[in-house]
Amino acid sequence: VSGPAACPVCSSLTPEVFLRRGGVPVHQNLIFDDPASAVATPRGDLAFACCQDCGFVFNQAFSPALLSYGPSYDNSQMHSPAFREHVRALADHLLRDRGLRGARILEVGCGRGDFLELLAGAPDTGNLGLGFDPSHAGPDTSADGRIRYFRRYFTPREQHVRADAAVCRHVIEHVPDPLELALALREGLSSSERPRVFLETPCVEWILRNCVFWDFFYEHCSLFSERSMEALLRRAGFAVTQTRHVFGGQYLWTEAELSGYSPYAPDGGRTLRLAREYAGREDAALRSWEGRLAGLREAGKVALWGAGAKGAAFANLLDPACELIECVVDLNPNKQGRFLPGTGHPIVGFRELGERGVPNAVLMNPNYRMENQDLLDRFDIHTKLVW
Ligand SMILES: [Zn+2]
Repeated sequence: VSGPAACPVCSSLTPEVFLRRGGVPVHQNLIFDDPASAVATPRGDLAFACCQDCGFVFNQAFSPALLSYGPSYDNSQMHSPAFREHVRALADHLLRDRGLRGARILEVGCGRGDFLELLAGAPDTGNLGLGFDPSHAGPDTSADGRIRYFRRYFTPREQHVRADAAVCRHVIEHVPDPLELALALREGLSSSERPRVFLETPCVEWILRNCVFWDFFYEHCSLFSERSMEALLRRAGFAVTQTRHVFGGQYLWTEAELSGYSPYAPDGGRTLRLAREYAGREDAALRSWEGRLAGLREAGKVALWGAGAKGAAFANLLDPACELIECVVDLNPNKQGRFLPGTGHPIVGFRELGERGVPNAVLMNPNYRMENQDLLDRFDIHTKLVW
């Protein structure tokens, strides 16, 4: 990509590239049956830019044609008790604090439908669910027909859904034209008396501040701060009613309505400053992790814990030739026995840490530290968790 690209959120011509990586796997959650096909996975480039005006961060080199979110795509995190608890708390919040009842609920990117089942699965909520996701692999309807699934993307064509509330969790960061998605959500809600939208997505400020270099990867082409999310929703006709950080600060939870006024604080170059600071620190952070992994390797085998997007990005950056990391642990049984995209590291269940004699496992997300330690304790496995 040459020359300035317009910001997909505010159309400003000021985006500044602060991160470049070539030949990264395009899918982080598409796992493989053998190491050779894992290494041969399709690849693309990263050229992350930050908009000086609204603070939106996006991959200028992204090409949607390289990706396919079919039924073999598995990014479910519901095998983790901590993540399940997080999802349950969000559903409780919507049903109880936000009075989401008697509503037609549209979920864009519903995956297997875990969240929609919590919102509309019980008849006493009075809710109906409409779930869109090309990777949905379950039945077309559930909960006695109160929930219907559509195995396709939600596009402006679907605006006839006539929903009262739209829920969109961990989806908009995969969408190269988030304004188009926000406008489609508005159309889908336009006939409701109380139209509302609820969005959850990674917080780019958290990634930049903590220098989490493995949180930049191909699937996530659109990364938001509190302010760029507000800029997007305002441009699509929404007024933000609440924003907060959830899941240890990693995710941004945003609530908006179709009418009303919300005071707006422009980004004013704040995210760009963070992006420039990040760019200045990234190389040292990579070198530091290289040194740590080499040190751990001297003490014996090293595992990663977490074969999701974070683990895949980390392994591709720090151990592309499979010389330092023995295996990658994941609680998702569909991933075990298979291989990490790009590198071909084997994905195993946690009990293999004991069988393989692995003294150290690097946690890809410390939010799961307690539950992972509990599993090791329960099975008397002496692997040490590091992060
Ligand atoms: Zn912008």
